[in-house]
Amino acid sequence: MSDPHWGPHAHGLASGSRDTYKKPHRVGFGRDRSMGGTGKIGGRERRLLEAALEGMGSAHVLWGFAVGAAVLAEDGQIYRGCNVQSRISGLGVCAERCAVDHAVIHGCRRIEMVAVVADAEQAERPRPCGACLQYIADFSGGEATVVMALVKDGKILPETVEVKTVTELLPYRFEARQSEASLGR
Ligand SMILES: [Zn+2]
Repeated sequence: MSDPHWGPHAHGLASGSRDTYKKPHRVGFGRDRSMGGTGKIGGRERRLLEAALEGMGSAHVLWGFAVGAAVLAEDGQIYRGCNVQSRISGLGVCAERCAVDHAVIHGCRRIEMVAVVADAEQAERPRPCGACLQYIADFSGGEATVVMALVKDGKILPETVEVKTVTELLPYRFEARQSEASLGR
């Protein structure tokens, strides 16, 4: 396997997906126990997971474990993030919010998709926490797709990939009446 990002089951996942940016295709393992939500992954999801894996390498970990994230923002660019921990409990930031902030710094106020990866040795399932789900919903109008996967030995495990919408993961998010205005729209 020449692809440095993907684990041993990546063959059925990769074929032809590089150039299908607008047209995700269904992967071989389809809608089974490991694939919630839409049950499909295409080039965008794959590239975003790879960016999240790269982001994971920048994690600042004092306890716990490294998490990587990446967002596809309204400008079509991918912005990476990692968890940044502090010696003061509660001051750190999750990888997902770090990635969103990265996009905001570059002028983006809306994100389309978020990927998050965590090590299979540490995490049962790669899930954004509730705070991050709210954050992702805030910056997507509740429409962002969330792609999640576990990582082992530095490679994404395709059988752990899950694709869901942020609203599936957080169906009752907080919404202020002024939420759109506060985003400058
Ligand atoms: Zn979080």
